[in-house]
Amino acid sequence: MQAWPSPPVRPLPGPGRPLRVFDTAVAGVRPVGAGATAHLYVCGITPYDATHLGHAFTYLTYDLAQRVLRDAGHDVRYVQNVTDVDDPLLERAERDGLDWRDLAAREIALFREDMTMLRILAPDAYVGVVEAIPMIVDMVAELVDRGAAYPVDNDVYFSVAAAPAFGEVSHLDRAEMLTLCAERGGDPGRAGKKDPLDPLLWRAERPGEPSWPSPFGPGRPGWHIECSAIARHHLGGVVDIQGGGTDLTFPHHECSAAHAEVAAAARPFARSYVHTAMVSLDGHKMSKSRGNLEFVSRLRRVGADPGALRLALLDHRHTDDWEWTAPLLTAGERRIDRWRAAVALPAGPDATPLLAAVRERLADDLDAPGALAAVDSWVGAALAGSGAGTGVAGAGGEAPALVSRLVDTLLGVDLEPVRP
Ligand code: ZN
Repeated sequence: MQAWPSPPVRPLPGPGRPLRVFDTAVAGVRPVGAGATAHLYVCGITPYDATHLGHAFTYLTYDLAQRVLRDAGHDVRYVQNVTDVDDPLLERAERDGLDWRDLAAREIALFREDMTMLRILAPDAYVGVVEAIPMIVDMVAELVDRGAAYPVDNDVYFSVAAAPAFGEVSHLDRAEMLTLCAERGGDPGRAGKKDPLDPLLWRAERPGEPSWPSPFGPGRPGWHIECSAIARHHLGGVVDIQGGGTDLTFPHHECSAAHAEVAAAARPFARSYVHTAMVSLDGHKMSKSRGNLEFVSRLRRVGADPGALRLALLDHRHTDDWEWTAPLLTAGERRIDRWRAAVALPAGPDATPLLAAVRERLADDLDAPGALAAVDSWVGAALAGSGAGTGVAGAGGEAPALVSRLVDTLLGVDLEPVRP
């Protein structure tokens, strides 16, 4: 399906730095082992409600990763899915008296607008489950052929016993797995399964639900297999970064990896599993079930400066949970005003060390707050009047333009005056 327009990414002088990220599977920070082309797969939305700030923070994390990878000389191939048929979407459509396709189309359109406003780099392939049904059916059939799947009534389940590495993404004990499985769309209590943790691959048609033909009878895909199949089809081979929120670590990423690895008879599915922390509001993780949400589209309607909102989000490490409060947006507005004022000056301090510092901070597990602090230092010095006409290379009249460019390229924030 159609993605959204990507903002331009302008090259910067000199070499960038290789990206190191926290990999959940090894519980440590390590280099992203990408070749000339870095392959990213990030799990997309289930389009039944608007984009909240938790989503925005997640997609911003991988936008930053792409910027660092590109600056380090990689091409990036980025794939994101849309779970445009699944239980929560069908349930919401039924509740609201809407056709599920209309609800999905409406929310996907809103998501595109939100991502565009936040200047999030778009995926090269933006793939809905509905349009990916044939490749998903093929992968389920492969798992059946490999003896890794079995029927329960007319549904098809994956046998986790067929995946020797099952558990090596999340490293949870069995009791934790069972709890999360029940909380996050699984059905550990279903009778007839070989293991309560076995996930659904294909759900046979139920009255009133959409379905597609398959060798296992009409039905629709389970949640995890969609990402395994879309990633394989659009990225091939090994994914360099599998991304998503920490709430996708188990069972979703564990099961997607298991499906892909058993189908390919090869490991790993992904070289790094990078997860974005949760954003809370009023003391609890933002969630649709609790209803404590702040929406990008609402902030957009009330006139929030997109650059200020982006800076408010960037002022948090992707590995740390944090709480959204309205003053964060005010702080972002103050910051972007200062930054814009500084780059509008005719001259400023040497910006070459700032470029090195921002590169160094972002390459170190996407330390965006550290990068913002480095820019703040330069801005403070520039506004205090230092650096004009010093004769140092990179200083003087060239410095504001370089800062504007590096903030745009590496942080995705446009500091140029708004054009009429
Ligand atoms: Zn996924």
